Amino acid sequence: MPIDTLENRLILLAQSPSLRVQTFATVSYGDAWFPLRAFAWGDAALPAIYVLAGVHGDETGGVEAALRLLESLAGGAAPLTRHRLLVLPCLNPSGLADGTRANRIGQDINRQFHADRTQESAAVRGFLDARQAAVLVDLHCDRQAEGLYLFELRGERVSPLGEAVVASLTALGVPLEEAPFFAGCIGSRGLFAPSMADLEEFQRRALGQSLAEWGWANSIPRTYALEAPMGNGGEQAATMHLTALLALFAALEATPAIAE
Ligand SMILES: [Zn+2]
Repeated sequence: MPIDTLENRLILLAQSPSLRVQTFATVSYGDAWFPLRAFAWGDAALPAIYVLAGVHGDETGGVEAALRLLESLAGGAAPLTRHRLLVLPCLNPSGLADGTRANRIGQDINRQFHADRTQESAAVRGFLDARQAAVLVDLHCDRQAEGLYLFELRGERVSPLGEAVVASLTALGVPLEEAPFFAGCIGSRGLFAPSMADLEEFQRRALGQSLAEWGWANSIPRTYALEAPMGNGGEQAATMHLTALLALFAALEATPAIAE
């Protein structure tokens, strides 16, 4: 996806009366400047679902899905009644412009959410208020995967949604990764949901915090990394991500309380 295409679509979205846009930071590399934008939808008094995409600049399927979600909201779609949305459609615009996983100076932003060592993670950490979020979803693409899978982190007394989402996707015929492999651990069909002990062991080995782990560490009740196969230039991933997001929204709206 060319960066100009992204910019043009974001500028059009900013004109929608259904969405409230905020440029919460501008990152710079030499003479190049990249705005980071957030789009809010729904009643500000409701618990929020944070949808984040593009932390890896070459995983454009997630960015495309976030843009399509925003474009549907701008067109009048209302997929939620008990939650609001906060969508950050592209967290690594220099990586998107360059077609690289990392940002322009080679930092993998998604291992830097424990500290303010990248412009992008510092801006996002400063902007997002974890206390207002019921759910955080971070969209990624996996070049090795053949099907979609979820990485689900949640508090010990929070009801699971991952299994309900996997059941919906199965009913819709979305291909799921049979044995997702995440951070050295193997999950069950379409879902990797580590126990607290698994996660603590992973965090002892890993170098830094991902966005999903940041959400978990900051007590967001449920956080997800959604991983879709990166085929067809991201088109298939975008369609799968959007289907999975709508399944997650439906499962969440059907759940009587955030934590139960
Ligand atoms: Zn990724």
